[in-house]
Amino acid sequence: MNTTNFNEIPIIRELQLDLFPENSISYRWLQIVSNGIAQPILIPIMVAKGKSEGPILGLTAAIHGNELNGISVIQRFFGEIDVQQLIGTVVGVPAANVPALLNNQRQFIDGADINRIMPGNEYGNTSEVYAARFLNRIIKQFDYLLDLHTASFGRVNSYYIRADLSSIVARELAKLQNPQIILNAPPKDGTLRGAAADLGIDAITIEVGDPNRFQTGIIRSSLTGIFNTLSYLKMSEEPIEMGDEKWLECDSSQWLYSDRGGVITIHHSLAQRVAKREKIATVRNIFGKKIKEYYAPYSGVVIGKSNHPIGQTGSRLIHLGKLN
Ligand SMILES: [Zn+2]
Repeated sequence: MNTTNFNEIPIIRELQLDLFPENSISYRWLQIVSNGIAQPILIPIMVAKGKSEGPILGLTAAIHGNELNGISVIQRFFGEIDVQQLIGTVVGVPAANVPALLNNQRQFIDGADINRIMPGNEYGNTSEVYAARFLNRIIKQFDYLLDLHTASFGRVNSYYIRADLSSIVARELAKLQNPQIILNAPPKDGTLRGAAADLGIDAITIEVGDPNRFQTGIIRSSLTGIFNTLSYLKMSEEPIEMGDEKWLECDSSQWLYSDRGGVITIHHSLAQRVAKREKIATVRNIFGKKIKEYYAPYSGVVIGKSNHPIGQTGSRLIHLGKLN
């Protein structure tokens, strides 16, 4: 029976996992910074500590404040996990970027992208301090990290994984998620995944669909992937569940942009294969007359695409993964 009083969740300043009780799920508010009227900004932390010592797996969501599916994935995970059977510890951070989440926006309140300024700076500006403390007070404890994202505003994504496939562990973690696509993506500078890797933490980015909403089917797929991860890390004895369809693996990818402004039609669906020189998009003027057609420069698969039809010159069309 869950006896947690959610009105009286303790506030902590540091995540010290050895202080958490075994065989239980605990909830904490972690004070990361204070706002301009000296009130704490608190990050919700969920800790499932198992029956015995083992790996520490971190799950983070909404480091981009409008990328919401991961929140539901983490909530459901903690609703379903049986701590009596768990070996090791799972830490869930369902709202990594609380100020952005509350503003329903991707960026932090000073306009910075927290997932581009890692590892931050303990003595830096507002967003840099937030990033540094997030890394130092929470992420550093982990052995493995699954960082949950979605597409950005105005775009939609397939269910895909970004991982550095030169890492054997990252490659395995990627496959376990049963994704539609695995994209080889060595971490960019400033990302949480990159900062975690620099700390020796095996990390992948899980792209769980579209922003600003909860999508039940893809949330369920991602949840299965997390339970698979526990099995692979020997934190659980449950069997790994693999899907019927195998993922497509891309060595690289690129966004294709329009060089004409206008009304955009994209001709492919998410996760659809595209042949080289196949038409991928048409741009029309506001009277409906065709201005330009765009063609695939190589054969690949649609990882993500714009779903906003009005595009100024330089708008994104599709994110095309290159197939091996
Ligand atoms: Zn994101």
